[in-house]
Amino acid sequence: VIRPETFDVVIVGGGVMGSSVAYHLKLLAPQLSVLVLERDPSFRLASSALSASSIRQQFSTPVNIALSRHSFAFLKDAGERLAVDGQAPEIGLVERGYLYLASAAQEPALRQAHALQRAHGADIELLSPAGLEERFPWLNTAGVALGSLGQAGEGWFDGYGLLQAFRRKARALGAAFRTAEACGFGLERGRIVSVRCTDGSRVECGEVVNAAGPHAAAVCRWAGVDLPVQPRRHCVFVLESPTALPGCPLVIDPSGVYFRPEGARYIAGAPPRDEDAGRDGTLEVDHALFDEVLWPALAHRVPAFEALRQVAAWAGFYEMNTLDQNAIIGRVPQVPNLLLVNGFSGHGIQQSPAAGLALAEIVVHGAARTVDVEPLGFERIAAGRPLRELNVI
Ligand SMILES: Cc1cc2nc3c(=O)[nH]c(=O)nc-3n(C[C@H](O)[C@H](O)[C@H](O)COP(=O)(O)OP(=O)(O)OC[C@H]3O[C@@H](n4cnc5c(N)ncnc54)[C@H](O)[C@@H]3O)c2cc1C
Repeated sequence: VIRPETFDVVIVGGGVMGSSVAYHLKLLAPQLSVLVLERDPSFRLASSALSASSIRQQFSTPVNIALSRHSFAFLKDAGERLAVDGQAPEIGLVERGYLYLASAAQEPALRQAHALQRAHGADIELLSPAGLEERFPWLNTAGVALGSLGQAGEGWFDGYGLLQAFRRKARALGAAFRTAEACGFGLERGRIVSVRCTDGSRVECGEVVNAAGPHAAAVCRWAGVDLPVQPRRHCVFVLESPTALPGCPLVIDPSGVYFRPEGARYIAGAPPRDEDAGRDGTLEVDHALFDEVLWPALAHRVPAFEALRQVAAWAGFYEMNTLDQNAIIGRVPQVPNLLLVNGFSGHGIQQSPAAGLALAEIVVHGAARTVDVEPLGFERIAAGRPLRELNVI
């Protein structure tokens, strides 16, 4: 009888979360054996490869502000931290604010979020319509009552580059990466003892981390656990504008439509629509969304965009937590060696450094130490007590 291999920790999914967890585990506890199972290392459909990869501090939930602040600090030093054999990865971090624009009806919520963000150390400035016009002469402030602009700790980066950097560094520290699709668990007395793969292989495990992104609910089902995470299509449009917009931040219109510079071009999107729920099969671009929702909003907000041209578009899946649009980080009490790092609802790539660290700390130290992620634990899901994030884009 050939005994299956055994690993202290088996991670299902090798996107940015799985790779960050693997890296942080090997950093904190080099003696642990860590295996990452990834069914498609080309990451063709992975959220981490299709992300808009922007980072902000303007959240309505304190734990999200803390996760993104810690992650921004990590991204700033990523070249040094994730270097392998003296070669530093390039993750192209651009530090530039998000600009949230609020209508009169949205103004009280923006002021409230701003007070909370300031109280948690985020450097965010409120701007009146006159202040906005002075700062951004290309912006039409019709229908805008107030803006809030990040002064530091916000921006965008190369998310795919970050994923690859985590992978390379985790491998250099001794984590194993295998191309295989997990398809089930062996369970004994309420614990997971093994992970089965579609190629007929099986590995035994001490702990299992669910890092399957938009497909995390399927993995939980193998252990009889209901996870309210669904794939939800999100489309991104690449635009060219003949007129430059000096100092352009990531702008979020009161309608929810957003845009930001991407090199000499722009990218733009809109919040997920309910009809995008459960579209597991299709990643076709919704071109009507551009014509009906994005274009009118963009041309209204930036008159120079009247002349913009759409040059490309893509779609990926948000991993929507349908209970409260927030991450779920930590152990599942009913299956104590199953750990989750799921449900980020479109703000995961920016939080992957801090979330991976938190999960590794839970495994190694029994609790997160750097950022207190207890509010994001599975307990609230089981109890149906949402910790709602209001700023979802
Ligand atoms: C269009 C778009 C724009 C976004 N914009 C932003 C943004 O601006 N800022 C931000 O912070 N976040 C953004 N996000 C969200 C962010 O990209 C995700 O939160 C993050 O990438 C999730 O990483 P992940 O590793 O959990 O998931 P993924 O990258 O999807 O990785 C999961 C991996 O698990 C593998 N897998 C699944 N099931 C199995 C199995 N059974 N066996 C083996 N492997 C399996 C998959 O192949 C996949 O590679 C955006 C997402 C999209 C789609």
